Amino acid sequence: MSTLKIQSSCGDENEQGTLTVKDALQNMLGSISERTSSEQIHLTDAVDRILSQDITSPINVPSHRNSAVDGYAIMQTDLPVGDDIQILNIMGRVVAGHPFTGQLRKGDCIQIMTGAQMPDQADTVIMQEHVEVENNCIRLDGRHTAGQNVRQAGEDIQTGQVVLNAGIKLTPPQIGLIASLGIAEIRVKTPLTIAVFSTGDEILSIGSAQKEGCIYDSNRYSIIAALKKLGCNVLDMGIIADDPNKLRIAFKQAASSADVIFTSGGVSVGEADYTKQVLSETGSINFWKVAMKPGRPVAFGHVDDAVFFGLPGNPVAVMVTFYQFALPCLQKMMGLTQPLIAPTIKAQCTSPIRKIPGRTEFQRGVLSQSDSGKWQVATTGKQGSGILRSMSIANAFIILEHERSSIQEGEWVTVQPFIGLF
Ligand code: AMP
Ligand code: MG
Repeated sequence: MSTLKIQSSCGDENEQGTLTVKDALQNMLGSISERTSSEQIHLTDAVDRILSQDITSPINVPSHRNSAVDGYAIMQTDLPVGDDIQILNIMGRVVAGHPFTGQLRKGDCIQIMTGAQMPDQADTVIMQEHVEVENNCIRLDGRHTAGQNVRQAGEDIQTGQVVLNAGIKLTPPQIGLIASLGIAEIRVKTPLTIAVFSTGDEILSIGSAQKEGCIYDSNRYSIIAALKKLGCNVLDMGIIADDPNKLRIAFKQAASSADVIFTSGGVSVGEADYTKQVLSETGSINFWKVAMKPGRPVAFGHVDDAVFFGLPGNPVAVMVTFYQFALPCLQKMMGLTQPLIAPTIKAQCTSPIRKIPGRTEFQRGVLSQSDSGKWQVATTGKQGSGILRSMSIANAFIILEHERSSIQEGEWVTVQPFIGLF
């Protein structure tokens, strides 16, 4: 009997990769650096942009002493003692934006609205609900404390204080904070420019007629959507046929105009996988068999000055490798000093899952919380790496760690919700 000499493939149940997910990511992160310059923009356009300057306050916040409540501004020396009742004359009324210009004397008070500037001589505010008003006077008892209900100038932020550091992705409250300092324009990182193309003779663009043996391109659209969400400038280079010359030209063009190149397909060992052949000529690309499922074949490196991610062809593998590898790398290149980490939680698996040790699996799951508050997760069913529906009905990755073997029903597993990732 003769035997066949066969190789392992990413379709094999027990196929092993050569690099762990963790090592692959460390490798990638280690060979890239920040890529952006900065530009000045108006604050109203700044949400989700990455700050490229520290924000230092030019003013005190609040800028003036003001009342925290609607009430009466008094001098603390006029507070009654013990069971006494104190009567004070109402000398006027101040509202926010219109400071009191007169002089407050002992025995006087000023009606004051929230946010209005405190008269110089006053240091305490009595809430309007805590006084009796009679004949243009207020009557107050001894329950109050000196200095109450007054916000001091610079209490929140002092002139010269650094309130935000460069390298953060600006959120709505941070935009509000910058506005509260009166700052209209800020410096942010310029977005990365990213070229994206799909490879394969069988791939059709959306909008074109169906052809026998062909499939519609989904990867380019999912990758571009993900990049747009990250605020990148995208150069859509369409579909490049399985032709070494066309690929060579496409890579040259992409590398000369973009910071990063994303392709999908053509990085495994198929006859028509010319990406590998063409890029091997440039000499700085790694073709990895990562110990993961899906996503085993991943290419990464540099084409001239551009960083290159050669994602697998299968649509689910594209999404998994994008979020597990490309996202942290892009965040680093964008200059994010505090990368946004999608947190993982533990959930109880509602069904058994077959798994062999020696690779990390990213199954698609539906995460839910039981009435008692317990997190549970179910797989979306068939997990083929071409089944994009498994990704679109899921709301989380079930991450089965490298060394882990099959999961029994009811076992606790690590889950990464898509919220925070997408
Ligand atoms: P490849 O690595 O090029 O052999 O591709 C692996 C599988 O992914 C094949 O079934 C391809 O048809 C499929 N595929 C490759 N590129 C795309 C794409 N852009 N959109 C959808 N499926 C793709
Ligand atoms: Mg292909």
